[in-house]
Amino acid sequence: MAHLIYKCPRTAMKVQTWIAEEVAHPDPTTTFEPVRCPACTHVHFINRSSGRLLGDRG
Ligand SMILES: [Zn+2]
Repeated sequence: MAHLIYKCPRTAMKVQTWIAEEVAHPDPTTTFEPVRCPACTHVHFINRSSGRLLGDRG
């Protein structure tokens, strides 16, 4: 398991989450992991290596 902290775009809360450690991904820098957000209950896609959200240009 890998520990990630991201900022929920809907609530602006910092959220801690755990994602499964997988080595099967060919390129972890471009792999986004779907996580169920406990802050807003929606699903966000988080970059495994950077912790950035999909579509986050900031
Ligand atoms: Zn959220």
